[in-house]
Amino acid sequence: MSYLDGLIVDIDEGERSRVRHMSGGRVAYEPKITFTREGFEWLRTGILCIQCFGDLRHLGAFPDNCPTCGFPVKELQLVQLGQDDVGEEDIGSRLSLSDELSRMGELWVPPES
Ligand SMILES: [Zn+2]
Repeated sequence: MSYLDGLIVDIDEGERSRVRHMSGGRVAYEPKITFTREGFEWLRTGILCIQCFGDLRHLGAFPDNCPTCGFPVKELQLVQLGQDDVGEEDIGSRLSLSDELSRMGELWVPPES
């Protein structure tokens, strides 16, 4: 996974992340994943899977599906990218994958303010 060294600044799964209250009274933390500018470009140009961060360069940009996790890169990568909370920061671009991660679990219950 060495190629990710230059693409991801930090994955913060600790207490600094936002907390979401799940059904049944359980609590889940939202990981914050910070990409470098290069990493964000990889996502935007379809050579890095937004779901598993698999290297797609050998397949060319925007393959139909990620060979690692099966994510429909061609169809959904830019949609997913657009739905996520993307913002510029000094260090690069921050992309929240919390929405995607939440879909992998159970349905979220919005926190009661
Ligand atoms: Zn993937």
